[in-house]
Amino acid sequence: MMSEGIVTVSYIIATILFILALGGLSNQETARRGNWYGIIGMGIALVATIVGVVERHYEILLVALVLGGAIGVLLARRVQMTQMPELVAILHSLVGLAAVAVGFASFMDPDKHYIGVELTIHNIEIYLGILIGAVTFSGSVIAFGKLSGRIGGKPLTLPARHWLNLGLLLAAIWFGREFVLQAAAGGGMEPLVIMTVIALLFGMHMVLAIGGADMPVVVSMLNSYSGWAASATGFMLGNDLLIVTGALVGSSGAILSYIMCRAMNRKFFSVIAGGFGTGGGTSVSADGEEQGEIVAIDAQETAALLADAKEVMIIPGYGMAVAQAQHTVFEITKALRAKKINVRFGIHPVAGRMPGHMNVLLAEARVPYDIVFEMDEINEDFPDVDVSVVIGANDIVNPSALTDPNSPIAGMPVLECWKGRTSIVLKRSMATGYAGVQNPLFFKENTRMLFGDAKETLDEVLKAL
Ligand code: NDP
Repeated sequence: MMSEGIVTVSYIIATILFILALGGLSNQETARRGNWYGIIGMGIALVATIVGVVERHYEILLVALVLGGAIGVLLARRVQMTQMPELVAILHSLVGLAAVAVGFASFMDPDKHYIGVELTIHNIEIYLGILIGAVTFSGSVIAFGKLSGRIGGKPLTLPARHWLNLGLLLAAIWFGREFVLQAAAGGGMEPLVIMTVIALLFGMHMVLAIGGADMPVVVSMLNSYSGWAASATGFMLGNDLLIVTGALVGSSGAILSYIMCRAMNRKFFSVIAGGFGTGGGTSVSADGEEQGEIVAIDAQETAALLADAKEVMIIPGYGMAVAQAQHTVFEITKALRAKKINVRFGIHPVAGRMPGHMNVLLAEARVPYDIVFEMDEINEDFPDVDVSVVIGANDIVNPSALTDPNSPIAGMPVLECWKGRTSIVLKRSMATGYAGVQNPLFFKENTRMLFGDAKETLDEVLKAL
């Protein structure tokens, strides 16, 4: 058995490593190192907890560790890069579920020794842990469904949904009060279970009411909730490290939600209240016919346009992840740079299906970081760009976000590639993007459509180059 002092020191070291991990992850160049800090910190935390805190039932712990570890390894090895966002969502749901389970277990624990005010405080911790955990759990399961396409992207707009939300919230508070009062007298299971069901419904409704285009905020918000759920679990178990780690995840997730909201020009509370991203947009934007003609080109013509250019901007989107085209993209970049053509990448903050999605793919393909720019850094430069290559991106280059106030993505800043000389859009069909709206970019005079799977067409472009 480790002494309490060693456990505390280990926990402090783990906390510092987690903070260093977050710091590292905020920059592409240090992300790998950040990841290692996190892994080592979690290793220390696990060993200190198993050796220093756990007192009995090692056999159950061993089974749980082996089973959980095996599932984790299997999932991580099997997951496709395109399924990463769903995996993240389902992992958040597990944190929520764990908080609910720990909450009920602490409530039913026959050995607990709290009395008086301490008991009340402990019961409030249980109530909060289960409340946040249940909302995180059901919300994340719905987010998983939406991201994996099992549930449609359209928001569920029930009549009087704000009143419904308010009603559910008030009911959860009322049953929470009942629980704390009854638990002081030895009861409380009934209101606790009812409150849990209400919290589950609340989480489901909250995420169902949010439209496709606003999913980035939901993903980061659930990330934050999962942190607060873990923190609440820490309070229930009296574990300082869990409290701090949960708070770190909770607050960094909150900052990420803020960044995502800013990237989409949305107010956080309007997103949470739901109903954005209703899909469809106005009749004009929904109907491609009325927007003019499209001009298709082939790989040879694309290569010729690129070879003639001086300034090339590559705009990757979700389709690049689907096609796994990042390696070919880098080969093309190298070929163009060898011809003294300036190639840059423009990354929209919500491109793909999770924060940082495109950066991860480009880093995997070893694209140098100094030619990868964020939207804000390069959006002014498009008038000087000769060719923009839009690879499997749609919503993030949709001009109607700026011009159509009825569009579900209205107000969202987009990469304004149409201001350059030519935009080449690579996609398989005229299908809409995640937000479900038609894209007037495809019908612009200076846009060329290169139809086909992005990897296959880019392979041809590379050959032609
Ligand atoms: P979009 O989903 O808007 O568009 C992707 C496009 O890629 C589609 O129009 C599709 O057209 C095309 N595509 C798909 N597969 C291929 C392929 N194999 N080869 C070539 N093209 C392909 O993606 P964007 O990145 O432009 O925008 C992201 C959207 O996702 C935004 O609406 C954002 O709000 C949302 N979102 C973002 C999250 C995040 O955190 N980043 C999280 C959740 C949602 P076609 O079928 O014709 O090929």
